[in-house]
Amino acid sequence: TYVVVDNCIACKYTDCVEVCPVDCFYEGENMLVIHPDECIDCGVCEPECPADAIRPDTEPDMEKWVEFNRKYSEAW
Ligand code: SF4
Repeated sequence: TYVVVDNCIACKYTDCVEVCPVDCFYEGENMLVIHPDECIDCGVCEPECPADAIRPDTEPDMEKWVEFNRKYSEAW
């Protein structure tokens, strides 16, 4: 899965939301999040993000971000 990290805070762009083929972006409290079970790992959103806030969960220490993204995408 891909996840959104805190670089997203205060970013006003939604380019990622527009390109996601499965609409798995959700609004968190002050940033967007990706639902980790709905993301199909296509990767098209990553280069669209002007804030470099979208990362694959294969990067080190991403567990807390996966949980954070899950929590806020299921809050609705
Ligand atoms: Fe959506 Fe693909 Fe990005 Fe996952 S990797 S959030 S499916 S655009």
